[in-house]
Amino acid sequence: MKTKKVGSAGRFGSRYGKNLRTNFRKVEDQKTGGWECPSCLKKTLKREAAGIWKCKSCGYKFAGKAYKPS
Ligand SMILES: [Zn+2]
Repeated sequence: MKTKKVGSAGRFGSRYGKNLRTNFRKVEDQKTGGWECPSCLKKTLKREAAGIWKCKSCGYKFAGKAYKPS
């Protein structure tokens, strides 16, 4: 098998970059995607800070994980 112009480092870089993008998008989705409030059960939960979650509807605030409420 012949080596491409980019070589083994280039192939690894491409794969690594794709994974990185996928992971980043997953985190972004979790940050903004509607999580269910444990108090009023509406999907209005928002991440206020890393590990702090607040419901926009009832104002319920609690500590969770950095990118997930629980
Ligand atoms: Zn709520």
